[in-house]
Amino acid sequence: MKAVRYHEYGTADVLRYEDVEKPVPGPGEVLIRVEACGVNHFDIDLRAGVSRWPLPLPHQLGVEFAGTVDAVGEGVEHLAVGDGVWPQHEVECLTCRYCRAGQPNLCLDAKMMSVQFPGGYAEYVLAPARATHLLPDGVTAEMAAAGQVAFATAWHMIVTRGRLQPGQTVVVQSAGSGIGHGAIQIAALNGARVIATAGAEHKLQTARELGASETINYNEESIAERVLEMTDGEGADLFIEHVGGDLFMDSLRALRKDGRLVTCGGHGGETPPIDLVELFRHEWQVIGSRIGTPAEMILTMKLMGEGKLKPHVHAALPLSEAPEAHRIIEGRKQTGKVVLVP
Ligand SMILES: [Zn+2]
Repeated sequence: MKAVRYHEYGTADVLRYEDVEKPVPGPGEVLIRVEACGVNHFDIDLRAGVSRWPLPLPHQLGVEFAGTVDAVGEGVEHLAVGDGVWPQHEVECLTCRYCRAGQPNLCLDAKMMSVQFPGGYAEYVLAPARATHLLPDGVTAEMAAAGQVAFATAWHMIVTRGRLQPGQTVVVQSAGSGIGHGAIQIAALNGARVIATAGAEHKLQTARELGASETINYNEESIAERVLEMTDGEGADLFIEHVGGDLFMDSLRALRKDGRLVTCGGHGGETPPIDLVELFRHEWQVIGSRIGTPAEMILTMKLMGEGKLKPHVHAALPLSEAPEAHRIIEGRKQTGKVVLVP
């Protein structure tokens, strides 16, 4: 079978489309014929060797994917050959103290697709059956591959960590990203007034189509100044952030007193400067957020099936064009998600 792997860290050019042996499912595993695999910024960090995850090479990327069950291992009863499925992008251990306390996304021994498990940049991939779910009615493999991480992560940020209430004002940073385009839809679905930021007009246009009522081009205007203008000087209740860097302090200043900023990333700069005096005087809350829980993944898949959340696929490329997919993400050219189709 074909897979895309890299044998050394480097630019997108290190990705090789090559022949590898088709895997055979062991006990408790399913073999999935991959029909679509999402491309994430995490893939680029892994490939470039800057992810803080030391991995043996060669390595096969691909965090989120979906397809059809091709074979099942011993003891697998809830899935059968031919079922349309999506595996969780992270598999919790079920036994650590966080799993037992109902916080599986904080699992002490979690295993991720494309880190501890082979990723989805291949025609066939093994997955643990207990963390593999049927595609709901109305959800194609491409939708699942484009929407799993973006929607579940954004749901966790907005609803669970951000404690959004209907009628509150939410600012969503970087509307063109996977997380950003998911966050706009989830905030709107939960009754918020949504203000979206991006660095290009066509991304702001898409943000308005997805449910943002107002937009800010952060290359041309201050986020804080514009949000304060839009909210009669009060500021936003919640800020969904995943860029960091120079935008971080300007984003905090867009909050009302006791406002909440939830962050899940920092590709624009992982150690941004913070004015602690401003922070405590405003009682701003800076809240970290990891991935969504399995329950949030299942819920957002269901909402996709009902047409309430729509993954925006910027480009669907053949697996052999994985280097081009990486260049799109690295150049921040996309609006929404890029997927590979083996
Ligand atoms: Zn655990």
